[in-house]
Amino acid sequence: MTRAQRELRHLCLFVTESCNLACAYCFASNREGQGIDAELARQAIDQALGADNVAPDVGLSFWGGEPLLVFGLIERLVLHAAERARASGKRVRFSLPTNLTLLDDSTIDFLQRHGVALSLSCDGEAPAQDRRRTRAGAGSFAVVRDKLDLVARRYGARLPAVRMTVSPATAARLRENVRFFVDRGFDHIHFAPVVEADWSERELDSLARAELALAGDWIAALGAGRRLRFPTWEKALAWRRHARAGASPAERALLCGAGRSMVAVDIHGDVYPCQRFVFYDKQARKHALGSVHGGLLAAVRTGLAFDAARLGTRAQPCCSCPEHARCTAVCPALGYRLCGDVHVVDERLCLLGAAQARAVDYLESRLPDEPALGRHLEQVLAVAGQRDLFAWLDRAEPGRLAARAGEILAGLGGGRTGAQ
Ligand code: SF4
Ligand code: SF4
Repeated sequence: MTRAQRELRHLCLFVTESCNLACAYCFASNREGQGIDAELARQAIDQALGADNVAPDVGLSFWGGEPLLVFGLIERLVLHAAERARASGKRVRFSLPTNLTLLDDSTIDFLQRHGVALSLSCDGEAPAQDRRRTRAGAGSFAVVRDKLDLVARRYGARLPAVRMTVSPATAARLRENVRFFVDRGFDHIHFAPVVEADWSERELDSLARAELALAGDWIAALGAGRRLRFPTWEKALAWRRHARAGASPAERALLCGAGRSMVAVDIHGDVYPCQRFVFYDKQARKHALGSVHGGLLAAVRTGLAFDAARLGTRAQPCCSCPEHARCTAVCPALGYRLCGDVHVVDERLCLLGAAQARAVDYLESRLPDEPALGRHLEQVLAVAGQRDLFAWLDRAEPGRLAARAGEILAGLGGGRTGAQ
């Protein structure tokens, strides 16, 4: 597919800039911002789901601030998008990241009825969650714990994914914070460190040790028949297989669809490569791709000016880094935010990657002796995960990697589960 034919496969639509929590690591914390005009939002949705966009399947996520602050608008936009998708014969997949505080039964009724997938942004037990303060200055743990119980009751066996943010202050208790969710039945847990924080060596070591302990818990849980998912590690393990099969660092960079197959629209209708650029590039607008008035598809055709082969730190390019086959660090938005250049990887990211690599090394080393872990990876990586990975790659440069994907998947067949 040529640049001119690029598809829009995901629209991140900012519905409000306001948030009712004050999280130190978030740009939108505790803000009384504006909301998007409903007509502008409908125009963006119409373009994403219209016939001019050749993608048959389009993701639509509602961002904030806290999106549920404008739940009435979300209801109207979901109904509008569903109708628009029906009319154009497309599939629309809704998602909504939320801090949970405003969830109630009637909200959940609507979200379930219309297939809006929740992504729960919360950090675990009280000392971690209470760092996210309410506007009145109180901790948020008590309310979030009650809402998690509500979600567990309402969603039964199909609980939404949890997205945990790990800061230097909470890294040492990663294992306990994850267990807080697992004990409540949540089984799909993303965790990600705050890259912008100043991590000391001791904090990085705490994080690495906590990940190692958690990796041991994961193996034990899988062995006991619990199907726990940690996409952070699954993705790292998938990437290692690709790298060993010959994938280059430049291909790793294509895992990110920002400004290629995905765009974000802010509350003013300006278009950016992804949701992070909305925060990071608001003033300079160096990577803004246009506006809803100029058209989302034109923005996708313009695309993020990013050359994956140039990725690297100030000291060395990723392609000559000995860690490249073990490293999943890539985020043009963070490069822009921390180093002023989408191609530059801040060394904090390399250090955080190295901390995580210890747990992933351990998981790989246990693969030959842990059939449950092997089976899980075969299911999640060799089947779903690998396909997802290739779908991401394909989303970025459609067609170019298709033949390669077939070869690598064939190479992974035959029931092999161990590290190669
Ligand atoms: S460790 Fe840093 S320099 Fe090396 S591959 Fe990863 S991001 Fe690139
Ligand atoms: S990896 Fe970074 S640039 Fe890419 S979509 Fe995610 S936040 Fe945006």
